[in-house]
Formats: sequence, structure tokens, C-alpha cells
Amino acid sequence: MAYISNLKTEIEYLKGVGPVRGEVLKKELGIFVFYDLLNYFPFKYIDKTQIYKISDVKSDAVAVQIKGRFHGFQEIGDKRARRLVAVLSDGTAEIEIVWFQGIKWVKTSIKPGEEYLVYGKPSYFKNRMNIVHPEVMLFKESGDPAELMKFQPAYSTTEKLTAKGLDSRGIMRLQSELIKIIGNQLTEYLPQQIVNSFKFISRFDAYKNIHFPKTTEELEQARNRLKFEELFLVQLELIRSKWNREQIKKGFVFEVVGDHFNNFFHHVLPFELTNAQKKVIKEIRADLKSGKQMNRLLQGDVGSGKTIVALMSMLIALDNGFQACIMAPTEILAMQHYVTITRFTEKLGINVGLLTGSTKNAEKKNIIEKTASGELQLLIGTHALIEDTVQFKSPGLVIIDEQHRFGVAQRAKLWAKSTIPPHVLVMTATPIPRTLAMTFYGDLDTSVIDELPPGRKPVKTLHFFENRRLQIIGAIRQAIKNGNQVYVVYPLIEESETLDYQNLMDGYDNISHDFPLPDYKVGIVHGKMKADEKEKSMNLFKKGFYNILVATNVIEVGVDVANATLMVIESAERFGLSQLHQLRGRVGRGADESVCILATSYKLSNEGLTRMQTMVRTNNGFEIAEADLRLRGPGDIAGTLQSGLMDFKIANLATDHKFIQAARYTAIDMIREDPNLSKPEHQLLRNYILEYSKRKINWSEIS
Ligand code: ADP
Ligand code: MG
Repeated sequence: MAYISNLKTEIEYLKGVGPVRGEVLKKELGIFVFYDLLNYFPFKYIDKTQIYKISDVKSDAVAVQIKGRFHGFQEIGDKRARRLVAVLSDGTAEIEIVWFQGIKWVKTSIKPGEEYLVYGKPSYFKNRMNIVHPEVMLFKESGDPAELMKFQPAYSTTEKLTAKGLDSRGIMRLQSELIKIIGNQLTEYLPQQIVNSFKFISRFDAYKNIHFPKTTEELEQARNRLKFEELFLVQLELIRSKWNREQIKKGFVFEVVGDHFNNFFHHVLPFELTNAQKKVIKEIRADLKSGKQMNRLLQGDVGSGKTIVALMSMLIALDNGFQACIMAPTEILAMQHYVTITRFTEKLGINVGLLTGSTKNAEKKNIIEKTASGELQLLIGTHALIEDTVQFKSPGLVIIDEQHRFGVAQRAKLWAKSTIPPHVLVMTATPIPRTLAMTFYGDLDTSVIDELPPGRKPVKTLHFFENRRLQIIGAIRQAIKNGNQVYVVYPLIEESETLDYQNLMDGYDNISHDFPLPDYKVGIVHGKMKADEKEKSMNLFKKGFYNILVATNVIEVGVDVANATLMVIESAERFGLSQLHQLRGRVGRGADESVCILATSYKLSNEGLTRMQTMVRTNNGFEIAEADLRLRGPGDIAGTLQSGLMDFKIANLATDHKFIQAARYTAIDMIREDPNLSKPEHQLLRNYILEYSKRKINWSEIS
């Protein structure tokens, strides 16, 4: 059956599918061809590898398989509560079995005295253990015990599929059919050397055992291989694309370090750079004169001093006759950069522009003209920078301050505009766990600022339940009395916006009311305010006019006020870990010891409590990022990273560190040795990628 061994065969041709089910499989699960079905993995396995003694069955354990004889059938209750109850005993103990439906059928078909295999999930009802609606099978008809004693795969399915007979078991039957006809015929596309060195089972065995494992070892082996494969293919393309860029894409050579840089360094820079900043600037300088396009990720915790690094890199671009720009994810952050940077550049006589969504038309026109003519040397802005109307005369360096908000596609848009692409520096303030970075930014080089400027005291973090309101108020009063300023932060999360908005306003009123002294001034800033109102409010806080700023997470990436030493985060349980960490980074920016109070209600999930405890325990952004990944899983983080890279079928970025690393290093070795995969031993791999990969990298581009 030649057609069948082709995994690209349309799904309706599989025995048991046909046009009607085929249509539903396509629509509901995106299963178009045999290959798709084969890669539709069970989400769990039902353990039928052993038969429990009834005396060993624990309450609401996972489902168990038991064996025994039925007796004592009894119909009880009436109308909707009507049910059939029987007792199953195996000589060690008894358990009640209950049916609410199909009572007639059960009564006529179950034979007292015969031994049955019963499979279901035990639960408690009125202090008695029972199993409701179990699977029941006559033991002597249950077939070959070796066949029977296995893990049964469970597949997620939908109502529409179930209506067409494709419940979990239905899908299992199709998988079984597919495995049968594939027979042992799956081509091995991984080079033998890799298969050997990782002791992988064959591809066919991996697929067979992921669907129908007989033992936990078999399942483990199947998972190992499939996880590796999945991650390896991603890494291979990332590494290849990095290689491609390094080999092929020319970059501007920034030979000189000139007046702008030197003047800044010797006359303007108000402090000594940290060693970490020096190291990173060195790495960037090396990239900029290498002749290759720089594509570097700069990671550094909040307050580690990335802005200075960004500025100094841009000054090198200017010294070499090029323009540079910074793209920020929000207007407030763009504004912040603009303010910080112009403070320095004023003294250097550099032309800097700010372009955001709310830039007035006349001003916008002016900026666009000056950008095109080259008169503007630095442009700072938001997404507005990637509009087609914005054309740089000589774009040399693009800095993306991304806070996880720009996707790869958006990044690419920036340099699609010119033939020699500008150098690119991506900055992230939320440290990313190494393994995630390997995947999301796997095609970038990385630099890390792993040191805070001297004199910073770590922010002391406290978790208070709502009963300690008075203490919170006391802390606020004390901070103000010491001449410092205070943030009070409320969650404002879009789905429940109206309610959150109300809370924020109530909070603002309360605080104004709690601090009736005339010299306590309270300001407010939130996302619904116009950009200029926000700016005004923040500036008043910055200037010290407000003692307290009531705010939403808009300040997450915004203001830099060294005099602010206390942050109270209300309903802190509603914020994610990285967000809390970002917020906390707004205090502790000066020489005074700062405090962050996380106020939560008593109704705190375990996960929420862990978040609070993590915040209290550590100030280390990397540790927090790891904890965040463990708590939320990569899915959520993927959401904020806006990347399609994350739909892994079997690998789990939160837990599969060792596979990610193994996959990455294997890919690096392979590309180093054979970048176009043109060696004979890589032909099958190359063909496989060309045929099945969803990603866009063109392997024939070069060879
Ligand atoms: P990030 O963007 O990494 O969160 P910033 O660049 O905003 O951090 O720097 C935080 C603060 O620390 C700023 O006020 C900045 O001027 C200051 N700063 C940066 N580098 C140093 C340094 N080497 N020594 C002292 N202060 C520094
Ligand atoms: Mg910053």
C-alpha cells in the first residue's frame, strides 16, 4: 500500500475516517494529513498497568483498575436522583459502584457471579467510597492480559468530534490504525551519530510508544526523542539564521570612536561605569567594527544602567556619520528616554527628536523631514518609528527597548528598509531564563549587565495582608516625614477595567482623605489619561511637588525618581511576578533604603502566595524570571513575547532545560560543520525540514 506510507496522505483516506470525519478533523484539530494525526499526542495516559486490591484503593485517587464480582444490586432514589447501586468485592474489601444512566442495560447485562474488570475514579459520597459510571468489562473476555495491561492514551477532543464518534477512544483507534499501516517504515532523518550518542529509540518506536506505551520506560524514551527533535529543529533554524546573518549580511563598519563618545565619556558622564557596563560596551564596540551586522540582546535588571550603554552605543554610530534610533514600547518610556538622553546630549550639541503616536502633525512632519535629511541624529519613539513615512538618511544603529513587547516580525520590519541593515541592539529589562532566551532570542548574541551601580541598597520587600492597613499608612507617613516620596500602585487590567478603574479612584480618594494635612499632595497617573496629562502628573511627582503618586502599572516602565523610597502595591496578587519586579524597580534608585509593601487580601491562591514569597525572598531578576517561568509555564510568557515559536507539541520550555541545551549545542556543532546541510549524512534531515518545517528560513538561499 504505497500511498499509505506517505505521511502527506490526506486524512480522509485513513481507514475509519472518510470525508465527513476528515472534514471535522481538519476544522477542529487542524489535522489534514497522516503526519498531523501522528503528531497529535495524548495529553495523558490512563494507567491500566496494574490491578489494584480494593483494600488498597485510596479515596479520590486517580482512576484505578480493580477486579471483582458484583452483588447486591439496588435501585434507589427517584426522578433525577434515581440510581443503580451495586457492590463489587474482590475478597480484600468492597466498593460501591453507581450508575445514573443506562440502568436497564446494566441490570440486564452484568452477570452476578462473574469476574469483572472495573476501571474508574473513586470518590467519596456520604463517607462511603464509590465509583460512578466506571468502564466495566467481563474479565474472561478482556483478552490477552499482556495486551490489556497498558497505558491507555487520552486525547483531547471536541464536541463536534465526539458527535462524529471521535471521542478520545475514537482518536485512539485512528492512531492505532495509522501506526499499524506505517509499520516500521518511518525514515530516520536524524544523523545516525546523533541517534547513537543520545541512545535514541527509532522514530517509529518513538511514535508508537508516545501513543501506546506499555511501560513508563517506553513512554520516557519516546518523550525524550520527540522532545529533542522538536527543540532541535527550532534550534537548527535559529542557529542557521544566525550563521546566515554572520556570513552573508554585511554590516556598517564603525571604525572610529570620536568626539561625541569621548566628550561624553570624559566630560558629561556623571559617574564611573560599572564593570558590567564596561564589559558590555566593549562587546558592542567589537560588534560595531566587525563588518557584520550586530544583532545583540542586552539583558540587565531594572536599574542596572542600560540607558547609558544604549546612549554610548548610539554616540559611536554618530561618530561614524550615521543616525541612530531607540524604539520603546510605550509613549511614557519613549518620553523617559527622550528626557534622560537630551539631558546628556544638550551638552554635546546633538539633534534629538521624539516621535510617538501623539506627536502633533506639524511636528511630526518636521521630524520626518529632518530624519530624511539626516539633520536629526538621534530619533527616539514608539511604534511610530516603523511607519513607512519614516525614512532615515543613514540608519546605523537601531535600539529596541522592548520589555517583551516587540515580536520578531516587528523587529525585522525595521531593517527591511535598507540594503545594508543597521546594527541592532535589543534591550530587555525583565531578565529571561537562559533556556527561554535560547529559544526566543536564539538567533541573537547576548550581553548581560549582571551588576547594579554601587551604593544601591536592595529594596526591602514586605507582604502584608489587608489587616495591616494601619501599618501601611504609618509607613507612608513615615516616608513622607523623612522627606521621601511614595508610590501607591493599583492593578488596572483590561478585562475588568471599569472595576479596576473604580478601585483606583477610590484608592485615590481614600489616600487624599487619609492625609488631610495640607502639605501632603497626592497625584494620580493612569492609562486613561492623555499623554500630556500623564506627563504633567509624573513631572510634578518627579519635581517633588507630590508626596504620593497613585498610579497603575503605567509607571512600570516610566519614571525614575531617586527620592521615592516607598512603594505600596495594592492587590499585589493580581500582578505577575515580572510585573511586580518591574514595579519594585521604581524605588531603590537613590541612596536611601527603600521599601516595597505588597498588600494582598486573605484570599490568596497557593500560586499567589508563592509569588509574594518569591518577591520577599529575592531582588534578583533572574531568579524571579525562573520562578515566573515555573509558576506560569512558558505559554503565558510566550503570549507576552508574541511569538509563534512557542506552540511546542511536547517540549516544555519551563522544565526541559536539558533538552533545550542538548538541542542547541547539537545544532551549533552541526551548522559549524555543515552550514547548508549539504553533506550526505544530512540530506534526510534537510529534506525533512524543507518538507515539514513551518518556519520560514530558506535553506537553499545560499548553497
Ligand atoms: P535600566 O534602564 O537598566 O533600568 P537606567 O539606565 O535607567 O537603568 O539606570 C538607572 C539609574 O542608574 C539611572 O538614574 C542612571 O543614571 C543610574 N546609573 C546608571 N549607571 C550608573 C553607574 N555606573 N553609576 C551610578 N549610577 C548609574
Ligand atoms: Mg531603562
